Amino acid sequence: MRPDILNPLFASVSSFRGIGPKLGAWLCRLCGEQVVDVLWHLPTGINERKVLQGEPVENTLATLKMTVTAHQIPRTRRQPCIVFGESDWGEVQLVFFNYHASFLTNKLAIGQSVWVSGHMVKEGSFIKVLHPDYIERDLDKIPEFEAIYPLKAGANGKVIRKLIDQIMPTLPNLPEEIDEDIIKKNHWPTWYRAVQEAHHPKNLNDVDFQAPARQRLAFDELLANQVALHLVRRYNQKQKGKSLPRQDKLKLNLPFVLTMAQQKCLKEIRDDLASADRMTRLLQGDVGSGKTVVALLAALQAVENKTQVAFLAPTDILAHQHFDKIKDLCADLKIHIELLTAREKGKKRDQILADLKAGKINIIIGTHALLEDNVVFHDLGLVIIDEQHRFGVKQRVALAEKEKGVNVLVMTATPIPRTLALTAYGDMDVSILNEKPAGRKPIDTRVMPLSQIDALVERLKNNPTQVYWVCPLVEESEESDLMAAEKRYAALCQLFGDEVGLVHGKMKAAEKDAAMMDFVSGKTKILVSTTVIEVGVDVPSAGLMVVEHAERFGLATLHQLRGRVGRGQEKAVCILLHGRLSEMARERLSVLRESDDGFKIAETDLKLRGAGEVLGIRQSGIPLFKLADVAEHANLLTLANEEAQRILKEDPELKTNRGQALKNMLYLFKKDKEIHLLKAD
Ligand code: ADP
Ligand code: MG
Repeated sequence: MRPDILNPLFASVSSFRGIGPKLGAWLCRLCGEQVVDVLWHLPTGINERKVLQGEPVENTLATLKMTVTAHQIPRTRRQPCIVFGESDWGEVQLVFFNYHASFLTNKLAIGQSVWVSGHMVKEGSFIKVLHPDYIERDLDKIPEFEAIYPLKAGANGKVIRKLIDQIMPTLPNLPEEIDEDIIKKNHWPTWYRAVQEAHHPKNLNDVDFQAPARQRLAFDELLANQVALHLVRRYNQKQKGKSLPRQDKLKLNLPFVLTMAQQKCLKEIRDDLASADRMTRLLQGDVGSGKTVVALLAALQAVENKTQVAFLAPTDILAHQHFDKIKDLCADLKIHIELLTAREKGKKRDQILADLKAGKINIIIGTHALLEDNVVFHDLGLVIIDEQHRFGVKQRVALAEKEKGVNVLVMTATPIPRTLALTAYGDMDVSILNEKPAGRKPIDTRVMPLSQIDALVERLKNNPTQVYWVCPLVEESEESDLMAAEKRYAALCQLFGDEVGLVHGKMKAAEKDAAMMDFVSGKTKILVSTTVIEVGVDVPSAGLMVVEHAERFGLATLHQLRGRVGRGQEKAVCILLHGRLSEMARERLSVLRESDDGFKIAETDLKLRGAGEVLGIRQSGIPLFKLADVAEHANLLTLANEEAQRILKEDPELKTNRGQALKNMLYLFKKDKEIHLLKAD
């Protein structure tokens, strides 16, 4: 049960004066309909309205005193009412559209002296103010500083400012959950004062991420988030898993030796499998770092123990490719491997489902199809999820829950910066493949303007290797992506005839596979695509990649795309064609030219564009914070992580006063589910 002290924070905004159904609905769309939602909607700027100190320059926000001299009331509503006045700076005209004339003539009676505040424009000999923000007899009633809130269309920041002023006196003084030393060292205000200050900025520094009040609130959020993740992790770990010790009955004859990093990660996974606790581990490794083989070796350990393995891939193409490769590698082993995607239908599918249930299949590789309810395992020991960022957290959980205590290994090639990984995968143990197999040649990455496209196409005629041609993202809409790809396909077909293939997300699985297979077999030389080839596809004979409008892609995506070439013997080339570039876009693309390190690239992207913009992050299920900014508050995030661990160690059930205070924060940041885990332990 939520402690009573928090009730005012969960009150509905519609209980406040001035918030009717219409505004309530608007607020709901903007931030949410509870008090706490409005509190977390922080200002992003300030208005400063000083008393006018001289003639206004273009559109000055200011306050001035005037005496009303005349009214001009039009006959139709379509024309504005104008109120004339005298001020120290000459004649003033207040202009109102759609106003009740009587309202104005009362409030602004002739001879009346008033303070008027708003945007002022000097027009000829007079000062014009269109719809003043304030008209008051006392100057005190007009704030000198005003918070500017991020708004959606159809409203005005005044609503939120007035609401906040009503809310503040209803709020409790929450007991402190942050360690005193941390508070002191950072000069942070109490929670109440932090909220007060954050909503009443006095200068631009006050709306900065590093303002003490902002830092404090961000820390509250980060701490709640970290504690919540640690609770999930603790819960997961306490679930009894299947102990699947290494037996070395099934051995692979690999054509290469594992890298040190692969060995290290494999050991971590093997130990997890052997232990009676359930494994929830993330294997993170840049493109081409060799995750698949590590996963396969882990899978064999599960199979040795007579349990089944489900290997989940994000696309049909990838599932297919994993299937072929894994079947190949396991050719000498007497194990049964099957493929299950949306395409296995009818009798074939029934057979696979029956075999799975009977335990005849050792490893099943597939797509989302594996998540369906009618897919029942005999004894599932390990779930492997490839390219985790393509699946939501929900799907990850869905598969893990098919069998209680099943071990889970998720893999991602999205090189997520360390700080982000803390927030995204704090509920998992992490193994990092930070080394690529020896002998990989770096990809020669070139940045060119789109104007060179014709010359480039010309050069394709003599290009010895196969080519990926990636078409741009157009405003994240699949339709327009498709059009761009089809147009390019048609243009290239005119020159290269049936040597050109096309894949895009809207194709039927069979068509997509056919196009892919034609490329793999070398029947087509140029493969035009949207970003569907982004993940995992492996065609060693492709040595050139062209990306149109590279500036529209996230760096992490470009890096992943580029990882599709350079898998063969030849040195590969990646050409990034760009349209008009801003200074920042230029800087971003040059990072790709200079670095081949996915982690470094992701860090840079994060710094340059902020967490919300780093592509792949949105889809990854990483929570984007309301108050904290992962890039700006990276140090606070690390601190929150340490604090969360320390607190949970000292007070595992959050029973002390400090623990209770922390629980309040978990409620405030809507971690109700995680709070339940405290009891479930
Ligand atoms: P990713 O981590 O991007 O999923 P893959 O598992 O697809 O990478 O591996 C990329 C390629 O590297 C594959 O062709 C794989 O067979 C090969 N590979 C994996 N490990 C090694 C190694 N230790 N030495 C040489 N080649 C390797
Ligand atoms: Mg892979």
